[in-house]
Amino acid sequence: MSRFIKTAYQGFASYTPGEQRNDGTYIKLNTNESPYPPAPSVLEALKENDLEALRLYPDPTGRILKEKLASLYDVKPENVFLSNGSDDILNFAMMAFVDDDEKIAFPEITYSFYEVIAALHGVQVNRVPMCASDNLPALFINPDDYCSLHQNIIIPNPNAPTGAALTVDQIEKIVRTNPDHVVLIDEAYVDFGAESAIFLTKKYDNLLVSHTFSKYASFAGGRLGFAIGSAELINDLMTIQYSTNPYNINRLTMKLAEATVDADTYYRANAEKIKATRMRTTAALEAMDFTVIPSLANFVFARHQRIAGKTIYEEMLRRFVLIRHFDSPVITDFNRISIGSDEQMNQFLERMQEVINEKS
Ligand SMILES: *Cc1c(COP(=O)(O)O)cnc(C)c1O
Repeated sequence: MSRFIKTAYQGFASYTPGEQRNDGTYIKLNTNESPYPPAPSVLEALKENDLEALRLYPDPTGRILKEKLASLYDVKPENVFLSNGSDDILNFAMMAFVDDDEKIAFPEITYSFYEVIAALHGVQVNRVPMCASDNLPALFINPDDYCSLHQNIIIPNPNAPTGAALTVDQIEKIVRTNPDHVVLIDEAYVDFGAESAIFLTKKYDNLLVSHTFSKYASFAGGRLGFAIGSAELINDLMTIQYSTNPYNINRLTMKLAEATVDADTYYRANAEKIKATRMRTTAALEAMDFTVIPSLANFVFARHQRIAGKTIYEEMLRRFVLIRHFDSPVITDFNRISIGSDEQMNQFLERMQEVINEKS
């Protein structure tokens, strides 16, 4: 760090993204991208005049894309906010809605970006402890812990890195009992089997739902996120956005994102394939003595009964399979494994079997 950095950021620990090794050597199952390419119509969406138009600023209101998303999700364009990836929504929401003397509550085990973005804005956090379920370790959100909390709340549904999901009834109760605070439901993984809370935004003015094209829409490199909420909440986010980066979606991303919404049925079909592959992968891992948290996301979170999580991660890396290991003590025996194509998962399972045979 330079001697010029603000006192508040001295020693600041930023978010660590998953490794990007994309030269084709590795089977990459560590950052929950889609294994499938963008839809053919998306690959062909950019025309020469789109490139020529790069000299012009993009439409800061994102009118066309908002109209398409509004129609897909049965809301109005004024209920839609567009962002450069959905992490930007978390950033803007933190600036827009959390007062200096307020806390933001989120699950103790969750997407680690929440902690970082709260720290960046000097916001106090309430890390809500996790609960056990059946014979599984304490990795689950108990919705009752969030009812009448009277704090701003972020909950990913399904949660990361576990893949466990709440029902919309459980979410509605959290939203209803915290009427004076914003409840942000991060639905980055909702397209793989969980229920979306978007329809509840018509009933509750304190509910904000965020989505990303990064996971189900094969668009992680395009950087497009969106949020749905009451027109007032969306306006507040726009106030922050226009004061931060008015042209936050570039022309190429805007055009490709429009084509992505038009091709929604293609992406829904991919999500169905990923769900089937997830079921098959879960069963195969269980047969190798893994405990697998029931997942409604495009990844599974799994712990072997005898072999340490770190060992599995390292042995798989040696075999050119990249999965995600977190050092945090509570989950150190787990690895998060993105669901790839059937072919990728066959290779993954083959190499995993080698590791189990060798290390057991
Ligand atoms: C991946 C992810 C996001 C954000 O992804 P972007 O690429 O910034 O849109 C948000 N929340 C969770 C829980 C995620 O896993």
